[in-house]
Amino acid sequence: MNFLLKKMIKVGITGGIGSGKTTISKIFETLNIPLFNADIEAKKLFETEEVKKFYLAHFGDAVFSENKLDRQKISNILFSAPDKLMLVNSFIHPLVVELFDNWTIKHIHADYVLKESAILFETGLYKDLDYNILVTAPVETRIKRIIERDKLPQEQIELRMANQWTDEAKVPLADFVIENEDNSLVIKKVLDIHQKILASIKK
Ligand code: ATP
Repeated sequence: MNFLLKKMIKVGITGGIGSGKTTISKIFETLNIPLFNADIEAKKLFETEEVKKFYLAHFGDAVFSENKLDRQKISNILFSAPDKLMLVNSFIHPLVVELFDNWTIKHIHADYVLKESAILFETGLYKDLDYNILVTAPVETRIKRIIERDKLPQEQIELRMANQWTDEAKVPLADFVIENEDNSLVIKKVLDIHQKILASIKK
């Protein structure tokens, strides 16, 4: 195949906090689908001078501990101030988009690539992707998982959820929905979606 003529298929995978999108993305990785975790890449940007300067200009010293950006302090401010969260997102998201575009070029040989982000629909970035997969789970299950995983207090989890859309709002925008409650059924759903995407590429 002539890789220069090949159109790279980009698939988004999203879901609210604790829905299990990372767990499911890892199943796609076992099928040799390269995974770009936008949330992790955004966190890595915290180390860069560009991002440090941005926070210093807009939030001052209050979000630093020993010259490093303090994610806990930032979360405390941002998740209770939607206007500030929007300001930060409008700065960070284009930087992550650029990283994703550069990363995608390196994976041109893959059948398709997967982009994982908690807020693909909220940011509108889902529109840049060929297909979007939504991972859902009941709110109570998600809260229980995050309390177990991160030992976060329930109020903090609910605050984060309040900044994300509900599953009901996201379902109509998704091409595929994975209800992630039972591990054994999830693998079959992933394989089914994988086959459908491959079939659509070969058409
Ligand atoms: P976040 O947005 O907070 O990163 P996430 O959507 O990526 O969350 P995961 O990290 O994949 O979610 O899952 C959250 C926790 O729930 C993890 O500890 C994971 O092991 C567990 N988990 C995920 N799916 C299931 C499942 N089907 N059954 C039981 N536990 C699960």
